[in-house]
Amino acid sequence: MPIQLLDNETIGKIAAGEVVERPASVVKELIENSIDAQATRITVSIEAGGTRSIEVVDNGAGMTPDELPLALQRHATSKLTEFDDLDLLHTLGFRGEALPSIAAVASVRVQSRPAGSQHGGALRVEFGAVGATEPAGGDTGTTVQVRDLFENVPARRKFQRQPSTESGLIVRLVSAYAAAYPQIAFTLIVDGRRSFVTTGSGDLIEAAATVYGNEVGRAAIELVEPEFDARVPGVTVSGWLCAPTITRSHRQQMVFLMNGRQIQSRTLMYALEEAYHTLLMVGRHPVTLVRIDVEPDQVDVNVHPTKAEVKFADERAVARAISRAAHATLSRIPRAEPPRIRIESSMPLSPTYVPSPMPAVDARPFPQTSMQNPPERPTEPVREAPDPVPEYPRPNLPVLRVLGQVASTYIIAEGPEGLYLIDQHAAHERVVYERFLGQMVAAGVERQPMLDPLVLDLSPEESTVIEQSMDELGQLGFELERFGPNSILVRSVPSVAVGTDIEARLRDILNELGEGGAGSSWLDSVAVSVACHTSIRAGQTLSLQEMRELVEQLERTEQPRACGHGRPTMLKLTQDELERQFGRT
Ligand code: ADP
Ligand code: MG
Repeated sequence: MPIQLLDNETIGKIAAGEVVERPASVVKELIENSIDAQATRITVSIEAGGTRSIEVVDNGAGMTPDELPLALQRHATSKLTEFDDLDLLHTLGFRGEALPSIAAVASVRVQSRPAGSQHGGALRVEFGAVGATEPAGGDTGTTVQVRDLFENVPARRKFQRQPSTESGLIVRLVSAYAAAYPQIAFTLIVDGRRSFVTTGSGDLIEAAATVYGNEVGRAAIELVEPEFDARVPGVTVSGWLCAPTITRSHRQQMVFLMNGRQIQSRTLMYALEEAYHTLLMVGRHPVTLVRIDVEPDQVDVNVHPTKAEVKFADERAVARAISRAAHATLSRIPRAEPPRIRIESSMPLSPTYVPSPMPAVDARPFPQTSMQNPPERPTEPVREAPDPVPEYPRPNLPVLRVLGQVASTYIIAEGPEGLYLIDQHAAHERVVYERFLGQMVAAGVERQPMLDPLVLDLSPEESTVIEQSMDELGQLGFELERFGPNSILVRSVPSVAVGTDIEARLRDILNELGEGGAGSSWLDSVAVSVACHTSIRAGQTLSLQEMRELVEQLERTEQPRACGHGRPTMLKLTQDELERQFGRT
């Protein structure tokens, strides 16, 4: 094919591919424009994960009707005039690419009226085709509506995740901006339902509580500046971090903003976690929001299409500043309130964790949790165990002899073909997952009523996931009930989860489901996730007897070699391999 110039429509679509990766990127660009326009009120509404519609309304500086066509033209910006201006930049945008890129792949309508003017205008762009500007009334500020995103880019549409996943990402994004800009009153509406409203009072902790839930609000402490000689010149760090009483299994609630723009940075995450050091259990991560401010010439924001990553002139200085501020702040947490760290290794195995054939109902006493008193609600009627319980191990896994445990995480066993290393978590997850499937078909998943129903404060993101998973969680033993707009009552839990930190487990499940789920259907995804988060964890010391039971149960599963997520449950080192390694052959 000879070389030829691309037409404008194709150029537009290709450029859009970089900036507009998914619905959340549209929301990010529109919010940043509203912030740049000095808005004090920003309302974001989305439908169907943003693919059907995204609307951002602000009360910012607005644009004159004449400016509207320019705003929708590529490389048109009011934020800089030459490249060197980047060194002085105090706005979030600068490329003049967002609005035209969005308009190349969606049906867009922009309506705006500048402060102090009676004349507003509206302009429509349908998949790159710009219409005529028309007069429009409306309040001071700007409204951008984006409909049918990617309708003209079937390839992009195909790669979009479930609307619920996209909604989750958008909720997370808007939450971070709302928490980082407490002086702006943010409203988020998801599919017609109000997710949160911040007051715009300027109070960081209040905003944190509104978007991340009261639990976070109570544990959040504003970052304090370190002693004078420990400060890092040129770097200002502000925000908050949660006392280590609150942790997550993921790092998604470690939010960083650099000069007001949300960024991702592994280096900064590690620097911050390092400050928590011994306060966190292995695999747990803190909940934090850190705003870093440096002079604009100390950072290159022009290294990433959506500006999600930046390059600092001196990243180590920034990491040092974060680490020192975190140390200074954490050292102020009163000793009277020691971190609530659970030692899980001494925890008894859950009551259903006994070798097959499954007992109809567990006779052991309740473990030491909030469920130790007699239940108020009647216990479930005694269920009969299903008859088709296999007598002998299935032939797909040989009978293994357990030898011991390595790193409180792997079981070493010997079989006819050699040595087996079994990941205790993955193995138990497989056992629990198949048990769930079996019980769902038979009498329903074994559940245990909570004596004191647990009240769980939810973040808007968690609320969104609960909304779409309530039925499935119910089928898996988590009987939940809405309790006000931002919390739920947990009335019962699957028996396998008894004795674990129910609140932490449920949050982990909700977080994983928010990511989209790993199963073949939504119910399956929920089953995989519940099995994963209620089963034995890595780092838990097991007795020889417990290990034997686990391996026996694994031998009886249909697919003993992978957990519900598809990760391997075991590694095998054959006799041949051992002999080769030791130079015997
Ligand atoms: P950039 O933000 O990089 O300048 P955009 O394509 O996002 O590029 O926006 C183009 C221009 O449109 C901006 O420079 C700004 O002048 C104007 N604009 C966009 N959104 C708004 C808004 N919400 N309020 C006021 N002006 C806006
Ligand atoms: Mg912009």
